[in-house]
Amino acid sequence: MDKIAVYPGSFDPVTNGHLDIIKRASYIFDELIVAVFNNPNKNPTFSMEERVELMQKVAGDIPGVRIDYFSGLLNEYAVQKNARNIVRGLRALSDFEKEFQQALMYKKLNPDLEIMFLMTSQEYGFLSSSLVKEIASLGGCIDGLVPDPVKEFLLKYYKKQKQKK
Ligand code: ADP
Repeated sequence: MDKIAVYPGSFDPVTNGHLDIIKRASYIFDELIVAVFNNPNKNPTFSMEERVELMQKVAGDIPGVRIDYFSGLLNEYAVQKNARNIVRGLRALSDFEKEFQQALMYKKLNPDLEIMFLMTSQEYGFLSSSLVKEIASLGGCIDGLVPDPVKEFLLKYYKKQKQKK
Protein backbone atom coordinates (compact mmCIF):
# COMPACT_ATOMS: atom_id res chain seq x y z
CA MET A 1 0.00 0.00 0.00
CA ASP A 2 1.34 3.44 -0.91
CA LYS A 3 2.38 5.64 1.99
CA ILE A 4 0.46 8.88 1.50
CA ALA A 5 0.89 11.99 3.66
CA VAL A 6 -0.74 15.39 3.82
CA TYR A 7 1.29 18.51 4.58
CA PRO A 8 -1.30 21.15 5.47
CA GLY A 9 -0.70 24.84 6.00
CA SER A 10 -1.74 28.38 5.24
CA PHE A 11 1.35 28.91 3.07
CA ASP A 12 0.65 32.65 3.00
CA PRO A 13 2.97 32.60 1.02
CA VAL A 14 5.18 29.52 0.74
CA THR A 15 8.74 30.12 2.01
CA ASN A 16 12.02 28.26 1.64
CA GLY A 17 11.32 26.78 5.10
CA HIS A 18 8.12 25.16 3.82
CA LEU A 19 9.87 24.03 0.64
CA ASP A 20 12.61 22.37 2.67
CA ILE A 21 10.00 20.39 4.65
CA ILE A 22 8.20 19.43 1.40
CA LYS A 23 11.39 18.12 -0.22
CA ARG A 24 12.43 16.16 2.86
CA ALA A 25 8.94 14.69 3.39
CA SER A 26 8.75 13.71 -0.28
CA TYR A 27 11.69 11.33 0.26
CA ILE A 28 9.84 9.61 3.12
CA PHE A 29 6.42 9.09 1.52
CA ASP A 30 5.29 7.64 -1.81
CA GLU A 31 2.93 10.58 -2.22
CA LEU A 32 2.89 13.91 -0.43
CA ILE A 33 -0.19 16.06 -0.79
CA VAL A 34 0.65 19.67 0.01
CA ALA A 35 -2.74 21.04 1.02
CA VAL A 36 -3.31 24.77 1.22
CA PHE A 37 -5.76 25.28 4.05
CA ASN A 38 -8.60 27.75 4.06
CA ASN A 39 -8.65 28.50 7.78
CA PRO A 40 -11.69 30.56 8.80
CA ASN A 41 -9.86 31.66 11.98
CA LYS A 42 -7.01 33.20 10.03
CA ASN A 43 -7.14 36.23 7.82
CA PRO A 44 -4.65 35.45 5.07
CA THR A 45 -2.98 38.22 3.07
CA PHE A 46 -3.25 36.28 -0.17
CA SER A 47 -6.22 34.50 -1.72
CA MET A 48 -6.50 30.73 -1.90
CA GLU A 49 -5.94 30.92 -5.69
CA GLU A 50 -2.75 32.96 -5.25
CA ARG A 51 -1.39 30.67 -2.54
CA VAL A 52 -2.16 27.51 -4.54
CA GLU A 53 -0.72 28.97 -7.75
CA LEU A 54 2.54 29.94 -6.03
CA MET A 55 2.78 26.52 -4.39
CA GLN A 56 2.16 24.85 -7.76
CA LYS A 57 4.94 26.92 -9.32
CA VAL A 58 7.55 26.14 -6.68
CA ALA A 59 6.68 22.59 -5.59
CA GLY A 60 4.42 21.19 -8.32
CA ASP A 61 7.30 19.53 -10.17
CA ILE A 62 8.88 17.75 -7.21
CA PRO A 63 8.52 13.99 -7.78
CA GLY A 64 5.80 12.45 -5.60
CA VAL A 65 4.33 15.84 -4.63
CA ARG A 66 0.79 16.93 -5.45
CA ILE A 67 -0.72 20.34 -4.65
CA ASP A 68 -4.30 20.63 -3.43
CA TYR A 69 -6.44 22.82 -1.17
CA PHE A 70 -9.12 22.20 1.40
CA SER A 71 -11.36 23.71 4.03
CA GLY A 72 -13.02 21.95 6.96
CA LEU A 73 -11.51 19.29 9.16
CA LEU A 74 -8.02 18.10 8.36
CA ASN A 75 -8.61 14.56 9.64
CA GLU A 76 -11.64 14.17 7.34
CA TYR A 77 -9.69 15.56 4.42
CA ALA A 78 -6.85 13.09 5.10
CA VAL A 79 -9.27 10.13 5.16
CA GLN A 80 -10.81 11.28 1.87
CA LYS A 81 -7.34 11.24 0.32
CA ASN A 82 -6.46 7.82 1.81
CA ALA A 83 -3.63 9.49 3.73
CA ARG A 84 -2.73 8.06 7.14
CA ASN A 85 0.01 10.56 7.83
CA ILE A 86 0.07 14.26 8.49
CA VAL A 87 3.33 16.17 8.28
CA ARG A 88 4.04 19.39 10.15
CA GLY A 89 7.20 21.40 10.56
CA LEU A 90 8.64 22.50 13.90
CA ARG A 91 10.75 25.59 14.26
CA ALA A 92 11.11 26.56 17.88
CA LEU A 93 9.72 25.62 21.24
CA SER A 94 7.05 28.22 20.55
CA ASP A 95 5.58 26.01 17.77
CA PHE A 96 5.53 22.97 20.01
CA GLU A 97 2.64 23.65 22.35
CA LYS A 98 0.11 24.49 19.67
CA GLU A 99 1.25 21.63 17.43
CA PHE A 100 1.22 19.16 20.32
CA GLN A 101 -2.34 20.10 21.26
CA GLN A 102 -3.51 19.91 17.64
CA ALA A 103 -1.81 16.55 17.08
CA LEU A 104 -3.48 15.04 20.14
CA MET A 105 -6.83 16.35 18.94
CA TYR A 106 -6.42 14.83 15.47
CA LYS A 107 -5.42 11.53 17.05
CA LYS A 108 -8.52 11.66 19.25
CA LEU A 109 -10.75 12.37 16.24
CA ASN A 110 -9.07 9.70 14.15
CA PRO A 111 -6.79 7.23 15.99
CA ASP A 112 -5.53 5.77 12.68
CA LEU A 113 -3.79 9.01 11.77
CA GLU A 114 -0.09 9.52 12.48
CA ILE A 115 1.09 13.09 12.90
CA MET A 116 4.76 13.45 12.10
CA PHE A 117 7.01 16.42 12.78
CA LEU A 118 10.06 17.35 10.80
CA MET A 119 12.49 19.63 12.54
CA THR A 120 13.30 22.78 10.62
CA SER A 121 16.70 23.00 8.99
CA GLN A 122 19.00 25.28 10.91
CA GLU A 123 19.03 27.99 8.24
CA TYR A 124 15.22 28.29 8.29
CA GLY A 125 14.61 28.21 12.02
CA PHE A 126 13.81 31.93 12.10
CA LEU A 127 11.74 31.98 8.92
CA SER A 128 7.98 32.53 8.77
CA SER A 129 5.57 33.80 6.12
CA SER A 130 4.61 36.76 8.29
CA LEU A 131 8.22 37.83 8.82
CA VAL A 132 8.88 37.63 5.08
CA LYS A 133 5.80 39.78 4.39
CA GLU A 134 6.89 42.31 6.98
CA ILE A 135 10.37 42.62 5.47
CA ALA A 136 9.04 42.78 1.89
CA SER A 137 6.45 45.41 2.81
CA LEU A 138 9.23 47.58 4.26
CA GLY A 139 11.36 47.21 1.14
CA GLY A 140 13.91 44.85 2.73
CA CYS A 141 15.80 42.10 0.94
CA ILE A 142 14.05 38.71 0.90
CA ASP A 143 16.65 36.88 -1.20
CA GLY A 144 17.16 33.34 0.04
CA LEU A 145 14.01 33.43 2.17
CA VAL A 146 11.48 32.56 -0.52
CA PRO A 147 11.71 30.90 -3.96
CA ASP A 148 12.12 33.31 -6.91
CA PRO A 149 8.48 33.21 -8.15
CA VAL A 150 7.32 34.12 -4.63
CA LYS A 151 9.87 36.93 -4.43
CA GLU A 152 8.66 38.40 -7.73
CA PHE A 153 5.04 38.07 -6.63
CA LEU A 154 5.71 39.82 -3.29
CA LEU A 155 7.73 42.64 -4.86
CA LYS A 156 4.89 43.31 -7.32
CA TYR A 157 2.25 43.12 -4.60
CA TYR A 158 3.95 45.56 -2.23
CA LYS A 159 4.83 47.93 -5.07
CA LYS A 160 1.12 48.09 -5.94
CA GLN A 161 0.21 48.58 -2.28
CA LYS A 162 2.64 51.50 -2.07
CA GLN A 163 1.19 53.12 -5.19
CA LYS A 164 -2.29 52.90 -3.67
CA LYS A 165 -1.22 54.98 -0.66
P1 ADP B 1 -0.35 27.12 9.66
O1 ADP B 1 -1.30 28.27 9.58
O2 ADP B 1 -1.00 25.80 9.45
O3 ADP B 1 0.57 27.14 10.85
P2 ADP B 1 1.97 27.81 8.02
O4 ADP B 1 1.97 28.09 6.55
O5 ADP B 1 2.38 28.93 8.91
O6 ADP B 1 0.52 27.28 8.32
O7 ADP B 1 2.90 26.58 8.32
C1 ADP B 1 2.65 25.30 7.81
C2 ADP B 1 3.57 24.29 8.48
O8 ADP B 1 4.91 24.56 8.13
C3 ADP B 1 3.54 24.32 10.01
O9 ADP B 1 3.70 23.00 10.48
C4 ADP B 1 4.72 25.18 10.38
O10 ADP B 1 5.23 24.87 11.66
C5 ADP B 1 5.69 24.76 9.29
N1 ADP B 1 6.71 25.77 9.03
C6 ADP B 1 6.53 27.09 8.76
N2 ADP B 1 7.70 27.73 8.58
C7 ADP B 1 8.67 26.78 8.74
C8 ADP B 1 10.11 26.80 8.71
N3 ADP B 1 10.79 27.91 8.51
N4 ADP B 1 10.77 25.62 8.95
C9 ADP B 1 10.07 24.49 9.20
N5 ADP B 1 8.72 24.40 9.25
C10 ADP B 1 8.03 25.54 9.02
